[in-house]
Amino acid sequence: MVFDRMKKENFEQIVYCNDPKVGLKAIIALHSTVLGPATGGCRMWNYKDEDAALTDVLRLSKGMTYKAAISGLKWGGGKAVILGDSKTEKTPEKLRRFGEYVEKLGGHYITAKDVGIDCEDLKIIKTKTKHILGIEGEKGSSGDPSPATAWGVYHGMRACVKNAFGAESLDGLTIALQGLGSVSYYLLEHLMADGAKVVACDIDEEKVSRTARKYNIETIRPEAIYDVRCDVFSPSALGAVINPETLPRILMTQAKIVAGAANNQLATPEMGDALMRSEILYAPDYAINAGGLINIYHEQESIGGYSRERAFEQVRQIGNTIAEILRLSKDRKVSSHVIADQMAEERVRKASE
Ligand code: NAD
Repeated sequence: MVFDRMKKENFEQIVYCNDPKVGLKAIIALHSTVLGPATGGCRMWNYKDEDAALTDVLRLSKGMTYKAAISGLKWGGGKAVILGDSKTEKTPEKLRRFGEYVEKLGGHYITAKDVGIDCEDLKIIKTKTKHILGIEGEKGSSGDPSPATAWGVYHGMRACVKNAFGAESLDGLTIALQGLGSVSYYLLEHLMADGAKVVACDIDEEKVSRTARKYNIETIRPEAIYDVRCDVFSPSALGAVINPETLPRILMTQAKIVAGAANNQLATPEMGDALMRSEILYAPDYAINAGGLINIYHEQESIGGYSRERAFEQVRQIGNTIAEILRLSKDRKVSSHVIADQMAEERVRKASE
């Protein structure tokens, strides 16, 4: 029933890569190349079966189409998965063979890093294909994506604050920050400089103390983050944190905004509608956290090669994108996550005319 699935969600192409000699089984999904090459990282994961791998690669590649489109990039959405345990089954032969498959697609798919594939692996893949980006440390690389992601989340958050409170800065507002990982580390710098008060948590004690040493913030137990009185709840650790169990608690905190770096923040789309009914502004995750993708986009030689200044200027525009999503959401009385999807789909539709 693969064709039915492709038809239902407008998938252009799925490539099954199979080389028993080196033991490679991989799937490359090109959801859309309407706006440009289908771009998205390669994940290596020990899926329970082939169908689970296909489901994952389809979902992720479609997500990339939306993320690139909402960010105004001339990129489509793609993704690759290599089936197998990245700790025990990864070999240079498999990676090289995967690179050959990418190369054969002639630039219609651009690969990068994802779960289970690191920079050393990318270097091996690169021996076989030019269509690869995001190799940190290499000449022309955009480096760690986290500072760019943080920059985008900060501007997206400011757009929410402007909409909710009419304020030009975060001065005096309380942010409940869930997760003190790479993105939050850089995000905190902007939040503090803008005068915000931050209450944060992480399950990793080491990260909590590292951050508390550097910034003057309050830290609390991870489970208590949903009960902190705040203006902005910022999910920046893991997905599905807006769910039927947490939502009533977040409502009690008086938060007016949900804006953070995490992917897939809404456990179900209905949670987006529930936030709207509760008059909480939600910055759609894939729009606000696109800074890393925008940053890597600027590595392309075709647009002049990497310039941090140009890349960060475009990342800053995430603020305008979020402002536009919130404006349309209010005007049309439609949840912001639905508006974001509509805007992305509209861009793809227009480009295909
Ligand atoms: P990270 O792994 O560096 O940080 C995540 C942190 O969350 C870790 O410190 C972890 O200990 C903590 N954590 C896990 N479960 C938690 C819990 N229940 N409560 C509190 N803390 C918890 O990841 P990151 O790169 O900072 O990314 C953060 C989020 O943003 C992730 O969802 C990621 O997918 C998303 N994202 C990141 C980027 C990027 O450029 N790094 C880009 C887009 C989206």
